[in-house]
Amino acid sequence: MRKVCFFDTKPYDKLFFDRFAKKNGIELIYCESKLNEKSAVLAKECDAVVAFVNDVLDEKVLRMLSGYGISLVAMRCAGYNNVDLKEAYGKVHIVRVPAYSPYAVAEFTMGMFLSLNRKIYRAYNRIREYNFSLTGLLGTDFYGKTIGVVGTGKIGQVFIDICLGFGMRVLAYDPYPKEREGVRFVSFEELCRQSDMISLHCPLTKESYHIVDKKAIGDMKEGVMLVNTSRGALIDATALIEGLKDGKIGAAGLDVYEEEGDFFYEDYSGEVMQDDELARLISMPNVLLTSHQAFLTREALKNIAETTVENIRQFFAGEALPNEVCYRCSKNNICKKEHKERCF
Ligand code: NAD
Repeated sequence: MRKVCFFDTKPYDKLFFDRFAKKNGIELIYCESKLNEKSAVLAKECDAVVAFVNDVLDEKVLRMLSGYGISLVAMRCAGYNNVDLKEAYGKVHIVRVPAYSPYAVAEFTMGMFLSLNRKIYRAYNRIREYNFSLTGLLGTDFYGKTIGVVGTGKIGQVFIDICLGFGMRVLAYDPYPKEREGVRFVSFEELCRQSDMISLHCPLTKESYHIVDKKAIGDMKEGVMLVNTSRGALIDATALIEGLKDGKIGAAGLDVYEEEGDFFYEDYSGEVMQDDELARLISMPNVLLTSHQAFLTREALKNIAETTVENIRQFFAGEALPNEVCYRCSKNNICKKEHKERCF
């Protein structure tokens, strides 16, 4: 049995991972703490680590893990912006789950747009107080409106299908456009200028950090609806709050937030919120904020567990690692994985 330390465990994780781990010779040691320099020691007697979106895998933590003899971190998610890939290279292999259910995230995204537009979350609260008034709940038809999709990878493509089904005009921005019928690829500036609704589906990189900043918001249409189910730091929260206050942004749906690592997935209902920007966003009637839950469907959790366990099995069996990522992977043909080997 290989011992694998599983950080930031939630009850629903156990439900799905227990199904696959044991039969593949893997013993999962479930820890509730997020991985960081204080908790990394919990992995000391283990052979590998399973981590998630808000775990810290910076230089210090990776050095600690490597010092304990750990040479595999299996991310149970698609994104790996929280991993210092340069530091990991040559010491710790990083594997991930590149796709588990683009439908889960794309469907949730449309759910956010619908809820914001027709104010379903506000109606729910009103009715609970026997307030049957419709004042303030006015929405618009989505049919015929222009939506701007930023990032047209797996999730972006499914989201575009949904928007086309609603009879919307679709604009898209992606540095690597995949031309398709019904979609017009434009620059990011033009997308901002022309869209009634904007949805973010690109990864967080140096180039996309704060892609929605004061300038981009300035370019947007008056009353634009903005939804981010990708990564929090794609949006500059200070600029977003200003845009919401002056009415430039008509509504915002946020499943992610730049500083979410300090709060998301935990219960702070008995405490005073220390993040003023998060508190301000939560206080606004035209902001719908959720706790990074767009992925949370049965199908997605099953696929995440199955692929993560398979990634770990492949590593210990000495096989190639198709789901490995390294900082050289993005540089054309430099990475060995292109030749069906491990990254190092
Ligand atoms: P993907 O790799 O299939 O697609 C990403 C697309 O973004 C690619 O087409 C790429 O060319 C494009 N891109 C890269 N840099 C860009 C930029 N600067 N501007 C515009 N486009 C850019 O990824 P995916 O599976 O579609 O996932 C997209 C993102 O969704 C992930 O990176 C992750 O951050 C997020 N995500 C969130 C959840 C959630 O629960 N909220 C779950 C899964 C994924």
